[in-house]
Amino acid sequence: LSERLQKAFAGLRRKGKVTESDVSEAMREIRLALLEADVNFKVVKDFIKTVREQAVGSAVLDSLTPAQQIIKIVNDELTKTMGEAAVPLVKAPKIPTVIMMVGLQGAGKTTTVGKLATRLIQQEKARPLLIAADVYRPAAIEQLEVVGQQVNAPVFQLGTDVDPREIVRQGLAQAALQHNDYVIIDTAGRLQIDEKLMAELTDIKAIAQPNDILLVVDAMTGQAATDVATGFNEQLDITGVVLTKLDGDTRGGAALSIRAVTGKPIMFVGQGEKMDALDVFYPDRMANRILGMGDMLTLIDKAQQNFDEKQAADMAEKMRENTFDFNDFLDQMDQVSKMGPMEDIMKMIPGMANNPALKNFKMDPKDIAHMKAIVYSMTPAERVDPDLLNQSRRRRIAAGSARPVQEVNRMIKQFNQSKQVMNQMYKGNMQGMEGLLGG
Ligand code: GDP
Ligand code: MG
Repeated sequence: LSERLQKAFAGLRRKGKVTESDVSEAMREIRLALLEADVNFKVVKDFIKTVREQAVGSAVLDSLTPAQQIIKIVNDELTKTMGEAAVPLVKAPKIPTVIMMVGLQGAGKTTTVGKLATRLIQQEKARPLLIAADVYRPAAIEQLEVVGQQVNAPVFQLGTDVDPREIVRQGLAQAALQHNDYVIIDTAGRLQIDEKLMAELTDIKAIAQPNDILLVVDAMTGQAATDVATGFNEQLDITGVVLTKLDGDTRGGAALSIRAVTGKPIMFVGQGEKMDALDVFYPDRMANRILGMGDMLTLIDKAQQNFDEKQAADMAEKMRENTFDFNDFLDQMDQVSKMGPMEDIMKMIPGMANNPALKNFKMDPKDIAHMKAIVYSMTPAERVDPDLLNQSRRRRIAAGSARPVQEVNRMIKQFNQSKQVMNQMYKGNMQGMEGLLGG
C-alpha cells in the first residue's frame, strides 16, 4: 500500500468495529492519495462521494474486516469508473477501417500510429496505409516515414504544401485502389487546443468518416489531461483514448479523470518508445496503479474467496500472540492449498517479494500431504507445544508417518521459520497482511 493508504487503513484495522467518522477519516486519506496520483480534483470529489455512500450504506461497519471491505469498495468503484473491460477497435463492415488519431503536440500520435499498425499487422496480418496529415511541423512527415519503414507499412504523403483535407481525400482514394484494409490518419497537434486546429480536424473527420477517433493523451500531463480530453471530445466526439508514456513514473490518475469527464473508454496504453510498446488497457490494473497497491487487491480477493473469515481472524490473533501451533499449521495448510502456491501468494504482498526470509520458502502439494502426515503422527500435546519435540519423539513421528527423520526435522524447522515470518509481519513491517487476514 502507498504510505498514505497504509496509514488510513491501519487506523481502521485497530478497531473491531468502525464508526462513520472512521470512514470519513479513511475517505480523507483516499482523497489525498487520488490527488497525489494526479486525478482531477472534481473527479476525486465525486468519486469519494460515491464510495462514502457505499461504505456507510453497506454492511461494512458491522463486518469483521472493515478495512478490507473499504479497500475493496474503493478498488471496485475505481475499476468500474474506468470502464469494466478492455474495449476493442471498431471494424468497418467494408474495408478500409479508418482510424483517426488526434491530440496535442508531443502527446505521442505519430508513435502510436506506428504501434497500432504493428499490432494490426501482427494480429490480423493487416495491410494498413498510414496517412501523413500533419503538415505544420517540418519533421512530422519524415517521422511518419521512418515509423512506416520500421513497421513495414506504406505511408501516403503529399509534402507540407498541400492542405491536410486534400491529403486525406487523396490518401483514402489510394487506399481504395490498393485495397488497404486499414487507414490510420496521423494529424497535427498544437500546444493547446485552438479553433483553427479543431476546424481542420472537424473537416478531416467529415471527409474520412473514421470508425474510431482516438485521442492520444500524455499520462504525465496529470490534471490538465481532463481539459484536453473534454475539449477534443466536445468538438470531435472521440470514440476512445490512448494514454501514452505510462512507462514513466506517473501513477496514471489521468486515466480516471479522462474516463470520468468524457465517458469515453481508454482503449490502449503506451508503455515505451518502441513500436511494440502498446498494450490493451485494463481498468483493474490501472486502479491498482493509481492506488499504489501492487497486487494487494488480487490477494484480498483470493483471500476472500477462500478464507473463512472467522477462521482467518482467529489465525491472525494466534500469529499476533505467537501461539500458533501445529494444529493451526494444519488448518493453514488446508486454507493455503486452496489459494495456490504459497510462494506466489507471498510475492503478491507489497514489500515481500524480495524478503530474504522467503528465499527458501517453498511448498508443493505433495510436500503439504507429507507435512500433514507428519503432524498427524504427533500427539495432541506435541502439536500444541512444539518445544516438546526432542530427537526420540522426532524418530517416533518419522516412523509413524513413514517419512524419513530428516524430513521431520526439516518440517519442524520450516514450521518455526514460517512462524517467524508471520510474527515478523505482525511486528509492523507488513501491516497489509493483517488486513488480509482480517486483523
Ligand atoms: P505527436 O506530436 O503527438 O505525434 O507525438 P510523437 O509521436 O512525436 O511523440 C512525442 C515523443 O514522445 C517522442 O519522443 C516519442 O518517442 C515519445 N513517446 C510517445 N509515446 C510514448 C510512450 O508510450 N512512452 C514513452 N516513454 N515515450 C513515448
Ligand atoms: Mg506527430
